[in-house]
Amino acid sequence: MLVDYHVHPNTFLNGNYHSDIELLKPFLDACKLKGIRELGFAEHGPRPHPTYNHTALKPEELESYLQTLQHLQKESPDIQVKIGIEIDFEPGSGEYWTSLLAGHPFDFVACSVHYLPDWLPTSQGMAAYIQSGKSIELLYSEFYRTLQEAARTGIFSFMAHPDLIKIHSLLNQIPEPENLPELWENTCKTMAEENQCLELDTGWKRGNLNCFRPEPWMVTVAAQYGIEFTLGSDAHQAQDIGSDYPEALSILKKSGISQLAGFSRMKRIYHPLD
Ligand SMILES: [Zn+2]
Ligand SMILES: [Zn+2]
Repeated sequence: MLVDYHVHPNTFLNGNYHSDIELLKPFLDACKLKGIRELGFAEHGPRPHPTYNHTALKPEELESYLQTLQHLQKESPDIQVKIGIEIDFEPGSGEYWTSLLAGHPFDFVACSVHYLPDWLPTSQGMAAYIQSGKSIELLYSEFYRTLQEAARTGIFSFMAHPDLIKIHSLLNQIPEPENLPELWENTCKTMAEENQCLELDTGWKRGNLNCFRPEPWMVTVAAQYGIEFTLGSDAHQAQDIGSDYPEALSILKKSGISQLAGFSRMKRIYHPLD
């Protein structure tokens, strides 16, 4: 059974959350076409970062977001609508997220490291980082250390696109550090200790970066540590739901993974890969 746990319908108007289930229904229709039975909405949670802002829920909009998706759940007998959120984790932000999310009936909470206190995932952000005299090795180490810190909080259902840091090797042709295999291995050790699930994300396959997140070799290492995976498309439009799934499924199967994780009220559930 197929799932897509990373969908951003981007129902924002002038920066404010816009509650309208009619805007969400095309996503359900796309699931029917592609044989996807569980659809996880994961709009961005509040983004405290002062300069990295795009469509994101404000704390006071969480209730309206939850109610809209609960309403959609009732109107969707065929596709299981899962209520989720994608959180930007930064070092030291665990307590903030724990208190913000407490008491809200999410099915899942996805963790993303999109930026760090001294780095943004843009060409200018990278240039500023390099000008400050810091090395790529340090940046990668800090990125993966932050992912590990996030896993240790126990807050998150899965780590979304856990090798997003490679954006620079792809955009700016900066070589990845030689110790990347070791960094990933250490990260997988922590993920396994914390029973932390990962996402195989197909979003960048659609653009000119043309890759899975994480890379297939990283899936293989993670699977050797017994780490479980869910699947997501990072679709912002209904037509992108479940994109590149045949290849993604083959990557998972080649790594010996036999089931996909899904989530219900913050509990992991399993679907065999057949
Ligand atoms: Zn993301
Ligand atoms: Zn996302």
